[in-house]
Amino acid sequence: QAKKAGRNLFRVFSTDMAHLLSERLELESDLREALELGEFELFYQPQLLIDTGELIGLEALLRWRRPGRGVVMPAVFIPVLEETGLIDGVGEWVLRAACSQYVSWCKAGLRPPRIAVNVSGRQFLQTGFSESVSRILRDQDAAPTAFQLEITETVLARDTRHCIDTLRSLRALGLEIALDDFGTGYSSLSYLKRFPIDVIKLDRSFVSECHLKEEDAAICAAVISLGRTLGLKTVAEGVEESTQLEFLQREGCLACQGYLFSPPKSAHETAELLRERSCLPPRSSRCVEPVD
Ligand code: C2E
Ligand code: MG
Ligand code: MG
Ligand code: MG
Repeated sequence: QAKKAGRNLFRVFSTDMAHLLSERLELESDLREALELGEFELFYQPQLLIDTGELIGLEALLRWRRPGRGVVMPAVFIPVLEETGLIDGVGEWVLRAACSQYVSWCKAGLRPPRIAVNVSGRQFLQTGFSESVSRILRDQDAAPTAFQLEITETVLARDTRHCIDTLRSLRALGLEIALDDFGTGYSSLSYLKRFPIDVIKLDRSFVSECHLKEEDAAICAAVISLGRTLGLKTVAEGVEESTQLEFLQREGCLACQGYLFSPPKSAHETAELLRERSCLPPRSSRCVEPVD
C-alpha cells in the first residue's frame, strides 16, 4: 500500500517537475527573442519631495509584453535574464530606452525630472560599464545629470576596488547613484562611507509597517537620520498610506515613491502626468502642493 502510494506520489511529482521544466524552457526561449521582437517596455513611477510634493524623479521599471500572456512583471523574468546572461543586452536596452524617452519628453517640452534606472549586478560589474553608459548618453545627446542609476548593496560586496572606480567614473560624468532596497541585503553601514553614492532607497519591507511596528519605525528613523548626517538623500519606497507618509515626513525623509501617489505607468500615461504635473495623493494632505 505504502509502496503504491509512494509510486503515485513520484508520478505526480515527476509530472509536475516535467511541467515546470518545460515552462521554464519556454520562458527562456521566449525571453531570448523578446528583445529583438520589441516586447520590452519601460513603465515609470513618480518620486516626490515629501515637503512640497514636487516631482523630482521617475523610476524606470521594466515590463515584458509576452504574446498571449499579458504584461509580465520583473520578478518573473529578471532572475532568468540574469542566469542566462541575457541581462547584458536587455540592461543596455533599458538604458537606451530610458535615455531616448527622456530626450523625446524634453523635445516635447514636458520638462521631465531625473530618471532612475535599475542596473543589475552583473551589468554593473562588467568591465567598461561606465564607458558604455557614457557612450549611450552621448549617442542620444542626453545630459548625464538627468539620470540616476540604482544598484543594490549586494553588488558592492563583490569587488570593492572595481566598484569604487566604476561609481567614481559614473559620478564624474554627472550621474547620481542610488543604493536600492537598502537594508535588505548583507548590508554594512560602512558601505555608506566607503562607496561614493548620493541616495539611499529605504526598502518597502521597512516602510510598509513603519506606522504600525516599533521595530520598523526605528529602522526607518535610523536610516533617514543616518542619511541626513552623511549628506545623502533618502527616498522611501512603497508608500501606500498617508500615515506612512506622515511618519516619514516627521522623521525628515526627503522623498517618497509608492501607490499612494501613483503606480508605475506606461510612457504614454506618464507623458499625460508630466503634462498636468498633478501627481498628488488622492486626498490632499497639507504637505503636498503643486509646484510651478
Ligand atoms: P525595485 O527597484 O525596488 O522597484 C520597486 C518595486 O516596487 C517595483 O516593482 C514597483 O512597482 C513596486 N512598488 C512601487 N510602489 C509600490 C507600493 O506602494 N506598494 C507595493 N506593493 N509595491 C510598490 P516592479 O516594477 O515589479 O519591479 C520589481 C523589481 O525588479 C525592481 O525592484 C528591480 O529590482 C527589478 N527591476 C525592474 N526593472 C528593472 C530593470 O530595468 N533592470 C533591472 N536590472 N532590474 C529591474
Ligand atoms: Mg529600483
Ligand atoms: Mg527598490
Ligand atoms: Mg524594493
